[in-house]
Amino acid sequence: PRLQQDNAPVDMAIGEYLQRQPGRFPGAGWRIEQYLRRLLQCGKKFREDGGNRQLGHEWLRRLTFAGKHCSILIIHYRVSIMSEPKRLFFALELPAEAQRQIVHWRAANFAEDAGRPVAADNLHLTLAFLGEVSADKQRALAALAGRIHQPGFTLTLDDAGQWLRSRVVWLGTRRPPRGLLQLASLLRAQAARSGCYQSPQPFHPHITLLREARHAVPIPPPGFSWTFAVSEFVLYESRFSRGRTRYTALERYPFNKES
Ligand code: ATP
Ligand code: MG
Repeated sequence: PRLQQDNAPVDMAIGEYLQRQPGRFPGAGWRIEQYLRRLLQCGKKFREDGGNRQLGHEWLRRLTFAGKHCSILIIHYRVSIMSEPKRLFFALELPAEAQRQIVHWRAANFAEDAGRPVAADNLHLTLAFLGEVSADKQRALAALAGRIHQPGFTLTLDDAGQWLRSRVVWLGTRRPPRGLLQLASLLRAQAARSGCYQSPQPFHPHITLLREARHAVPIPPPGFSWTFAVSEFVLYESRFSRGRTRYTALERYPFNKES
């Protein structure tokens, strides 16, 4: 196919793709929907090949090409070559042993109808919620996070409570370590500067134990406590599939070793 000026790299990728698929885009009976589907596939292929580094997350304008087997087709259409935005957040992971113990403690201390328990491997402490983020913005946020240098810290979970408005029962800490507060405020500031809306409510470090806790539930008296070293924070993607929310760690950011 002869290619036209703008969007040269994309046109080239599409041109190449079409050349490898001769006869699949006949002039007659050609349907725009099908064509766009191919373009999206093409964009996907292009992205997998690393093309997005040059193009970024942009809606491509006026994808134009002239095909051998078609009369000249000019498409004025906006096509995203990128995947859908992802729902992202920065958080601390709990050590497997702490997850296990906390889940046991929860089962022993809360009634079954108190709320919907969060799965053991989903227990986490959110540092900054980013929302729906494009690939470009994700890269920018990940790079900023990678520049954070601070020592690790020790976290003690010795507090619990319930927020009736958000219907969650949570586990927290009576004395948040300075490193935790610093990290969260830095990540939240970076997120806000990158255009991720940040709630004006102050950061209250917590681990959600139960969701949809509509009615006030008795909170176990003080005396419980889990302590562990925190040596990294994590960028997670949150996805809802097959009836449950799943988090996938996309990047891990180890803290500096004690100097
Ligand atoms: P689900 O909403 O599917 O029941 P979830 O709340 O754990 O599960 P997400 O909504 O993707 O999953 O949230 C991921 C993390 O970010 C959770 O810790 C959640 O509490 C937190 N979070 C979600 N929305 C916000 C928000 N608007 N502001 C601050 N934190 C948020
Ligand atoms: Mg949620």
